[in-house]
Amino acid sequence: MPIKPRTSMPTQEAEARKRNFNEVALGYREEDAIAEAARCLQCKDAPCQKGCPVGVQIKDFIKAAKTGDWAAAYDKIKETNSLPAVCGRVCPQEEQCEKLCLLGKKGQPEAIGRLERYASDMAMKRGVNVQKPGDGAPGKGRKVAIVGSGPAGLTAAGDLAKLGYSVTIFEALHASGGVLIYGIPEFRLPKAIVAEEVDLLKKLGVEVRTDVIIGRTVTVDEVFAMGYEAVFLGTGAGLPKFMGIPGENLNGIYSANEYLTRTNLMKAYRFPDYDTPIKMGKKVAVIGAGNVAMDSVRSALRHGADEAFVVYRRTEKEMTARAEEFEHAIEEGVKFHFLTNPVKFLGDETGWVKGMEVQKMELGEPDASGRARPVPIPNSNYVMECDTVVVALGTSPNPLLSSTTPGLKTKEWGGLIVEEETGKTTRDAVYAGGDAVTGSATVILAMGAGKKAAKAIHEDLQERAKKA
Ligand SMILES: Cc1cc2nc3c(=O)[nH]c(=O)nc-3n(C[C@H](O)[C@H](O)[C@H](O)COP(=O)(O)OP(=O)(O)OC[C@H]3O[C@@H](n4cnc5c(N)ncnc54)[C@H](O)[C@@H]3O)c2cc1C
Ligand code: SF4
Repeated sequence: MPIKPRTSMPTQEAEARKRNFNEVALGYREEDAIAEAARCLQCKDAPCQKGCPVGVQIKDFIKAAKTGDWAAAYDKIKETNSLPAVCGRVCPQEEQCEKLCLLGKKGQPEAIGRLERYASDMAMKRGVNVQKPGDGAPGKGRKVAIVGSGPAGLTAAGDLAKLGYSVTIFEALHASGGVLIYGIPEFRLPKAIVAEEVDLLKKLGVEVRTDVIIGRTVTVDEVFAMGYEAVFLGTGAGLPKFMGIPGENLNGIYSANEYLTRTNLMKAYRFPDYDTPIKMGKKVAVIGAGNVAMDSVRSALRHGADEAFVVYRRTEKEMTARAEEFEHAIEEGVKFHFLTNPVKFLGDETGWVKGMEVQKMELGEPDASGRARPVPIPNSNYVMECDTVVVALGTSPNPLLSSTTPGLKTKEWGGLIVEEETGKTTRDAVYAGGDAVTGSATVILAMGAGKKAAKAIHEDLQERAKKA
């Protein structure tokens, strides 16, 4: 029997959406979601599930979705995934569950992410979105501190709270969510969704203390002195990498981290309601080709750029952005200059960037990342004009915690050293996970790490209680 194509999801029209910050993908209607769920073969061994880093019982949730039982579908997802409305929107499903879906062997895979999104949105709308605390007995009266409120910290906090621990999240910023609120733009992940997920955690009893920088406001040692028996570090990788080429200090050149934080957290996207200082350039160059670069270049268009383009030293094949974000960027008119690498930024007499000298590249042998190495082509330099540049070349963890916490060791590039299976760091009773350990990765991997660490913290604290 021929395989039906997957049910498409409506989006805002490209011409309209490229000038607003509203969500691009509009989500399924109920009939779409049920039709898509009906495509699932309910495979005996459900290969899709092996591709999910937090082990969502995909087959079972889709079975409930088929009958329109969204509460049951949501409950099933929520058993293992604490942020499904987020994951349904931003996970790279094409590289995970959907990549292994049997339907994909002969046709298009099941749209697992879209169904996850629909089930979660329905649950939130209908108010069935209440996590069920366990009986709380094992952890009752025992305090655990979580540093950082990104996906890793939120997941660890939720799992520990369900076991009855008194959990406090310490967050450096004034709002919770990590990259979900300061990095990923509103047009991909509405901030109200993140706030709702955080509220649910609060309902589970998690306390969130914002504007507290651990390592500066208080140290990890002082957190232990406050009675916390274990600390989880989910501090992410917020330190931007630059190119180290001449002219990089010119005005109008941003790290993607700063550009997106000004846009999202500081609400430049709500100009003129918020008059956040940001250069809303007319010709914006974004360097890099991951999700961060796509978010930056698409934000530039929405800030009113006449032209927003990506400059990348490899080719489309080596890009790390989610396929959907790349497609959406093209639909919105973003131009891509592949095999091109900036070598110098050029400024005007007032110190603002006015262009960059770039060099053409060709692909050579694979490098340490396994991707083809870009090799400069001699005498191929030329100038590209631009009035704003956003550098989106990755980030690394901030050294603040490792420099203020005795015994906490890092790898040479700054990632915290942990035991793979438990997230245990080199410092007793301190655990870590997410980008702080791996460098910039994905939401779901950070959540998986938070989950593992929560389990290990629980087991260790139980063990200690037995010995006491
Ligand atoms: C622009 C952008 C787009 C992305 N798009 C995607 C995507 O589409 N799909 C995907 O899967 N992944 C995406 N990612 C990657 C993903 O967001 C990250 O891998 C994930 O958020 C990492 O989670 P985390 O909890 O480890 O850290 P973070 O989300 O970085 O959270 C860390 C939190 O810790 C806080 N903190 C740091 N230091 C301290 C301290 N000393 N004291 C207290 N608090 C502290 C920070 O303020 C922050 O809130 C994107 C990343 C960016 C930047
Ligand atoms: S592999 Fe695809 S078709 Fe099979 S159970 Fe999973 S989602 Fe359904």
